[in-house]
Amino acid sequence: TKWVYSFGDGKAEGQADMRNLLGGKGANLAEMSNLGLPVPPGFTISTEVCTYYYANGQTYPADLEGQVQAALDRVGAITGKTFGDSENPLLVSVRSGARASMPGMMDTVLNLGLNDVTVEAIARSSGDARFAYDSYRRFIQMYSDVVLGVDHGFFEDHLEEYKERKNYKLDTDLSAADWQVLVGKFKDTVQAELGRPFPQDPRDQLWGAIGAVFGSWMNQRANKYRELHGIPASWGTAVNVQAMVFGNLGETSATGVAFTRNPSTGAKELYGEFLINAQGEDVVAGIRTPQDITEAARIAAGSDRPSLERAMPQAYAEFIRICGLLEKHYRDVQDVEFTIERGKLWMLQTRNGKRTAKAALKIAVDLASEGVLTHEEAIGRIDPAALDQLLHPTIDPAAERKIIATGLPASPGAAGGEVVFDSDEAEQARAAGRRVILVRIETSPEDIHGMHASEGILTTRGGMTSHAAVVARGMGKPCVSGAGGLRVDYAAQTLTAGGVTLKKGDWITIDGGTGQVLVGEVKMLEPQLSGEFGTLMGWADGVRRMKVRANAETPRDARAARGFGAEGIGLCRTEHMFFEGERIVAVREMILADDEKGRRAALAKLLPMQRADFVELFSIMSGLPVTIRLLDPPLHEFLPHTDEEIAEVAAAMGADADKLKRRAAELHEFNPMLGFRGCRLAVAYPEIAEMQARAIFEAAVQAAKASGQPVIPEVMVPLVMTKPELDLVKERIVAMAEAVKKETGAALDYQVGTMIELPRAALRAGEIAESAEFFSFGTNDLTQTTLGISRDDAASFLGPYTAKAILPADPFVTIDAEGVGELVRLAAERGRKTRGSLKLGICGEHGGDPASIAFCESVGLDYVSCSPYRVPIARLAAAQAAL
Ligand code: ADP
Ligand code: MG
Ligand code: MG
Repeated sequence: TKWVYSFGDGKAEGQADMRNLLGGKGANLAEMSNLGLPVPPGFTISTEVCTYYYANGQTYPADLEGQVQAALDRVGAITGKTFGDSENPLLVSVRSGARASMPGMMDTVLNLGLNDVTVEAIARSSGDARFAYDSYRRFIQMYSDVVLGVDHGFFEDHLEEYKERKNYKLDTDLSAADWQVLVGKFKDTVQAELGRPFPQDPRDQLWGAIGAVFGSWMNQRANKYRELHGIPASWGTAVNVQAMVFGNLGETSATGVAFTRNPSTGAKELYGEFLINAQGEDVVAGIRTPQDITEAARIAAGSDRPSLERAMPQAYAEFIRICGLLEKHYRDVQDVEFTIERGKLWMLQTRNGKRTAKAALKIAVDLASEGVLTHEEAIGRIDPAALDQLLHPTIDPAAERKIIATGLPASPGAAGGEVVFDSDEAEQARAAGRRVILVRIETSPEDIHGMHASEGILTTRGGMTSHAAVVARGMGKPCVSGAGGLRVDYAAQTLTAGGVTLKKGDWITIDGGTGQVLVGEVKMLEPQLSGEFGTLMGWADGVRRMKVRANAETPRDARAARGFGAEGIGLCRTEHMFFEGERIVAVREMILADDEKGRRAALAKLLPMQRADFVELFSIMSGLPVTIRLLDPPLHEFLPHTDEEIAEVAAAMGADADKLKRRAAELHEFNPMLGFRGCRLAVAYPEIAEMQARAIFEAAVQAAKASGQPVIPEVMVPLVMTKPELDLVKERIVAMAEAVKKETGAALDYQVGTMIELPRAALRAGEIAESAEFFSFGTNDLTQTTLGISRDDAASFLGPYTAKAILPADPFVTIDAEGVGELVRLAAERGRKTRGSLKLGICGEHGGDPASIAFCESVGLDYVSCSPYRVPIARLAAAQAAL
């Protein structure tokens, strides 16, 4: 078996697409060699050796040693040096490199091959003893730390103490003799710590380092990282051994890192730093302040230390040329590492650069304009979920920030509001038109309504995957979680941090992008959706097949939805309108009434309010389709809880409070989600559906008259399980439409359809489509009812299901394509067979989830509907699904 792949001198045995075998770093070093770029020669020990190593009791294949030696000889031939030679020694670096870059893996060891003999040879051949001993001490330090497990603190202490004694400020102040003294101390430390000397045989050093790389694949840090990022342990890591080039060979040498474009803004400007007379990690280690690479950046930063452009113009020009070439070749922004040895540039690494969502957009659009990418490719480059970062208000960077605590940036966006500690209070405040931030030690499913009602959520406990974080991200609400520096006292209704105590009702602002918690109201910037965002979304709109609608009922949400490009409302939840202000009293009157007469009296109060809501909604959506769902939730959700609330309703009805209390108790349900809800309400109390239908149709007539544009409402019946059930409700709706037509003398066009959210309805879709003109898949309930998992209770037991891969993902986040998806597919087929023109959409939470949107495309749905803030995500995901 071939275990080792060489690169260097303008050619390589590997290439970029061999990432699985060579790891990212190795594959790209090979690719750069093939491109003829100046890459120090070396070789990659493949990931298959790692797999072999763990499958065979941590041993190597028998023929590995021979292959490594042969590859080492090739490197020697190219460089004209010999590994371990006492006159002209080859020094190498040993670098780990998995498929995906992985913190937690072994750190790189530089200058390997140095010992008491070779260091002298290096001093002679370079003519720079300071350099030789600086390299040697670095090697002992790194190797001891990374391979031998001797804490680097020991070495740093020696160095600090020595510098202090000699009155040196910088490492570069030390002379050859100084470093020689320190090398002695370092070796003594190793002897003292390990009871054996620092290894002098270069071959031992090399195999020690190789073993350490493979060993690090299974260390605790790496295992944890893989677990968090879903990287399989079977992938293994590669090891790269590469000839050293030296950035610490005096003033004409340097080392640096750069992005070919600005990774936070995406601007087309080289972005990077370098250090003269330095090696490896010095640039990022922060021991010395690095210098700017370009003159423009130096001027912008107001630095008086020369840029690379000025200090080493030739190497700089070559570097710029190579950066341009790499960008073209990889067709993406590159994150590169380089070293300059006595004026000569060497490339040590390249990879696609990580970037913010904002930069990703700009880069994709720019690369397309430059002709590097097609529009389709540019669309494919953006992670739809990452758009979330851009769709929320942010704190004005110029605003003063009074930060009292910092937690985790759990869900992006900034928000301000009054502090409330209780979800019910949050809901009441929202209903009264106030803005609140829900502050909890942690949240549970019982807080869902409070989270919905809040502008943002702040918790003192829990991580990035805590309930608060996950739910907030799903809702598109800003969230700071795990702000451990904050103390919440529920009893006192206070919040204390940084010596400041806030009471309920005090204003705070949270920044879910940084995790900051601020006192008071802070100036916000609305999201900027023009520029590249608009361009890319335009391209996406051009290729997608499915329409994107929004779930919205308030004017505020409907406007936001249109601003984000929604093409209609896919779900208007009328019950949300019932909670607004004083209406709840009338709603309670209706529920608690003894008979139809009492209900009709209460409904008469609600009719004008509901009609006015719909008029406004229709006018905001000016001609776009609006799907309105009849009352859906269990009646029980509207019941008065406190004596005070009961007294209020009793007064409004002129009824006896005790009697009302008894009636409320009667309406108690054991399992409300499978109880008296959905169209069951309309079946039992048709007058509720009638009032809603009247409000919809009268509003449609009124809005059409006002705008001169036709309004075609889509009336949706929830939780249908049989055709006769739908027929019964539909009959009432149709009769009401006829009545309104007659009363107003206006033409009226409308559709009646149903939600498919029960397995039975999906199975019987063929006959239900005889009566329904459209289906909207309510996949939240369809998931609950198909899996038999209560969404609000799932948090406590679903964790292990995804962790143990029993389920591939949380089925409430990403649709269970095999189970729930099969029902959707089947219902779509059966429904369309009955009625070719049947309109199909999805309105569950899944409508805003990219993976679920891809599923919807595969089933051929006509549209997806999601929360307003997720509309752009859905537009992009729908485009990607169509490509
Ligand atoms: P990481 O994956 O942590 O970036 P690398 O293997 O890229 O680790 O090594 C870190 C740094 O060490 C490189 O950026 C480079 O500066 C230096 N380095 C690695 N190999 C060599 C080499 N052969 N010659 C000179 N410097 C090297
Ligand atoms: Mg690197
Ligand atoms: Mg439902």
